[in-house]
Amino acid sequence: VIDPAHGGADTGARGASGVQEKDVVLHFATLLRDLLQRQGLRVVLTRQFADNPSADDRAAAANAYRDAIFISLHAASTGRTGTARCYFDGTPPRGPLPAAAPLAWDRAQEPFALASQRLATLIQAQLHQAFSGSPAEPQAAPVRPLRNVAAPAVAIEVSSVSVRNREPLDAMALPLAEAVARAISAFRGGAG
Ligand SMILES: [Zn+2]
Repeated sequence: VIDPAHGGADTGARGASGVQEKDVVLHFATLLRDLLQRQGLRVVLTRQFADNPSADDRAAAANAYRDAIFISLHAASTGRTGTARCYFDGTPPRGPLPAAAPLAWDRAQEPFALASQRLATLIQAQLHQAFSGSPAEPQAAPVRPLRNVAAPAVAIEVSSVSVRNREPLDAMALPLAEAVARAISAFRGGAG
């Protein structure tokens, strides 16, 4: 499940020249979808056009499937253009998980914390190779929309929308898709 963040009236980050995060991430998401589909994966986008689904609706798109992977795409207004970072939800677990009772919606991510961290580590290693200046390790962050996802879930953020024109940013879309595709294939091929 690929989640192009923001959308509709929510533009996300905006650069001085008018580059908007919601448009950039939709472009990235479309390319990533096409590449993953060519690898034989079933891919769902949480939004296709100018809409802005709620965080719950985005999570529900992933929670509808068994064995899903959730990837949220963002573009920052800061950071060196041509770099990319991967995040997993670093919210500390709120006590032991219940054995039988259904898990509260906002704790859906907790059982997947380790898997998400492993996925983020694989993705960041690829991003580090593909985009020089990118960190080698992913970061834990309280990423609110990931918290409701009952699947391995990460957010990827590229820099930056404060470019004069979108070309250097759009040029990242294919290498990013290839990096994520390699990481997913390593993730699926590994334990689990
Ligand atoms: Zn964003």
